[in-house]
Amino acid sequence: MLWFMLPIVIYERGDFMPEDKLKEYVINRFTKMTDLLSYAGFQAHYEGTVFCPFHSDEKKKSAKIYNDEDGDKLWCFAERRMYFPIDVFKHNLIDTSAGKLFESLWNNLDDESKQLIKKEFSEHSQSPNKPNLEKYRPLLIIFDEFKGGGIDYDDLSKGVSKYFRKHNL
Ligand SMILES: [Zn+2]
Repeated sequence: MLWFMLPIVIYERGDFMPEDKLKEYVINRFTKMTDLLSYAGFQAHYEGTVFCPFHSDEKKKSAKIYNDEDGDKLWCFAERRMYFPIDVFKHNLIDTSAGKLFESLWNNLDDESKQLIKKEFSEHSQSPNKPNLEKYRPLLIIFDEFKGGGIDYDDLSKGVSKYFRKHNL
């Protein structure tokens, strides 16, 4: 009997997902990667590159934190991966819960703002912000050159900084 019930339970648990996604959206949209990481004890700033807190590489600064219309993001060149503020919680880098942070953010909003955010969130869910890799292609090329030994770390840093300055990131 239990075997038959299990898939139903899993399916029902899936119903909670939209709410969790809204929480993630709110955290990504309204918290700063730099604040969360600084609080977690990492060096975090928008200028230049930083050590990626999501993988262990203490020799090279391989990540760039920046801010765009959807909030803060961290791009790791080494992993070729985009991280969002919620990932600081998902990777247990910080000693506080995403749920608690969400509550305190949410409770400080008036009803009108909450409605507006819910509307934004549903539009966002229909066309989620796919990390626009096209935009980062020049960076991938620079990083490939570095991995292939064509350029050294200084050139990599300069290339990356130049790219972000040019695109105002
Ligand atoms: Zn990384």
